[in-house]
Amino acid sequence: MYTIGIDVGGTNLKAGVVNERLEIVAKKSIPLVWESQEKLAKDLADLAAAAAEAAGVAREEIGSIGIGVPGPVDAAQSIIRHTVNIPITNMPIGKMVGAYWPVPVRLGNDADCAALGEFARFGSTDIESLILVTLGTGIGTGIIMNGKIWSGHNSCGGEGGHMVIVHGGELCTCGRHGCWERYASAGALVRQTQRAMEAHPESGMWKLCASTKEVSGRTAFEAMRAGDAAAKEVVDAYIDYLADGLTNLINLLQPDVVCLGGGVSHEREEDLLLPLRQCVRERSIDRDLVDRHTDILTAKLGNDAGIIGAAVL
Ligand SMILES: [Zn+2]
Repeated sequence: MYTIGIDVGGTNLKAGVVNERLEIVAKKSIPLVWESQEKLAKDLADLAAAAAEAAGVAREEIGSIGIGVPGPVDAAQSIIRHTVNIPITNMPIGKMVGAYWPVPVRLGNDADCAALGEFARFGSTDIESLILVTLGTGIGTGIIMNGKIWSGHNSCGGEGGHMVIVHGGELCTCGRHGCWERYASAGALVRQTQRAMEAHPESGMWKLCASTKEVSGRTAFEAMRAGDAAAKEVVDAYIDYLADGLTNLINLLQPDVVCLGGGVSHEREEDLLLPLRQCVRERSIDRDLVDRHTDILTAKLGNDAGIIGAAVL
């Protein structure tokens, strides 16, 4: 049997046919064109059919459909409570897509689905808990505890990016000051790099970017590798912020594994993961107590984590 995993993004709808080994056999993607709940349900059903056709899999071989959406969900009843980028409230998506496909349609939050996808690749016998930390414009966190998504009361939990790590710090989109994502997201790294360039006209970062508008999450890392001192300061401070938030999560939940996702997570191990692990180890409450500490690893599934995680639902 196969499962179809669907990732409802801000701009695209992606569907993949996933086999029992959690491999994507075929995938299809279409732009998200919002008109109404009915149109979205039909688009999702059509997309699932197109993915099945591309995979050469008959409808009878599809056992279930899983859908990940950006926002809180009522997973038990497959209802989207509301979404971040699309004007949806209380959409019974399970029932609506189920009208086209007579199979169970399961629903999850997209960050939770991505965490579930990463968790699934370990196999349930190896680990019981995992937190996926995605470093993007903000910081997304998906929490798996005892093998299950943990999204808390009203499905609004798991917002690790909005832990305050700098009291009275930078204003966040959530309305508070000093949230972790204001300091340790990829977006924050870009802002920190731009500020360092303005403060250091002699910095080698200017050789990589003629203007601060060209700065990316890689700029400071690249300049640091070329020996630039200002860039090394940016990277050291960034890892410091990242380590503080990770240590908070590890002290609170002690997961078996923390996976880092997003473009920044692909930096060379010696430049990011090794110093990060050392910082976290020095700060964790368990540093002298146990032999086996939380593993900090790079997420493996990348853009496919949402599809695979939705399929695992
Ligand atoms: Zn915040």
